[in-house]
Amino acid sequence: MLPKQVFVMPEALNYPNCHEILARLEEKQLSIELLKSNRMPKSISKDPQQMFLGAKRTLVLAVRKKSAFQSCRPSSDYQLPLVSGCPGLCHYCYLNTNFGPNPYVRVYVNIAEIFEWAEEYIIQRQPLTTMFEGSATSDPVPVEGWTQSLAKTIEYFANHPYGRFRFVTKFDTVDSLLKINHKNHTQVRFTLNTERVIKYWDTGTPGLDRRLAAAEKIALAGYPYGFLIGPIITYDNWQRDYRELIQIIAAKVPPTTVKQLSFELITHRFTPRAKKQILQVYPETDLDLDETQRVWKYGQFGYGKWVYPPATYATIQEVLVPEIHRYLPQATIMYLV
Ligand code: SF4
Repeated sequence: MLPKQVFVMPEALNYPNCHEILARLEEKQLSIELLKSNRMPKSISKDPQQMFLGAKRTLVLAVRKKSAFQSCRPSSDYQLPLVSGCPGLCHYCYLNTNFGPNPYVRVYVNIAEIFEWAEEYIIQRQPLTTMFEGSATSDPVPVEGWTQSLAKTIEYFANHPYGRFRFVTKFDTVDSLLKINHKNHTQVRFTLNTERVIKYWDTGTPGLDRRLAAAEKIALAGYPYGFLIGPIITYDNWQRDYRELIQIIAAKVPPTTVKQLSFELITHRFTPRAKKQILQVYPETDLDLDETQRVWKYGQFGYGKWVYPPATYATIQEVLVPEIHRYLPQATIMYLV
């Protein structure tokens, strides 16, 4: 991410990590403003689309306040709050529900404190291992060049007997993670989709080839790794395209690494709030947001969403699961939701 504007919250300056991040940003001569309070300045534009796009290119250095870690089923036990927001412009992005009109990219500089809080959860659950998800409210890879938060987190969990870490990305700037002695305690996943989905609805992110090339590097660096196929969208001829996607993946993954590989399958869903936001920011989108073709379901955070009806789920399962078993029989399928 090359931010157009950087804001620094006053408390963030109390942390040496903030100064290290600032030094990297200053080297690139980016526009940096030290705020006098924790309130973000008002956007110059009143146009919802311009506000949204401007916020996506705004980096905020902030301090994460201590609060209960959210659960993160079925991916992990808890969310690990390293970053919130993402510069990507995927039309269907799940963050559209949470972040509203100004989805700034916030990075938390008090990472040592965040590890201390994670430790409290790990101790409570010992001797079980506790898994933390690093991308529940963000894609942390595009800001890794500035923050080095993922590298620090991978190193932290590498030395933890009962803590594990995983994150997922659509971005391919993973070279700085390849030499870390991760001790198999971090799983790196890449979100993939058909060419059709990536071309029309995954804007502002690297294409399929680049994501697969990054996954190959991660696999060869010995990380447990995975592919999150999602959102699975049932457009015309979707069955053919998703079968082809599995074959493309199978042709690309290094055969010796398939035992380290897992799949997560996530179908498309949307909330009323996300729909409103999507239509405001991407008025031309042809993303299917027709409630009459969906069923209403309440999720783990208490709010409802429109999901595919059970018959469509069943068809998605029939298409994707046998194809993965056929082409990558040693890979694990973690879940389909
Ligand atoms: S890459 Fe992920 S987090 Fe970023 S906009 Fe796309 S869906 Fe949202």
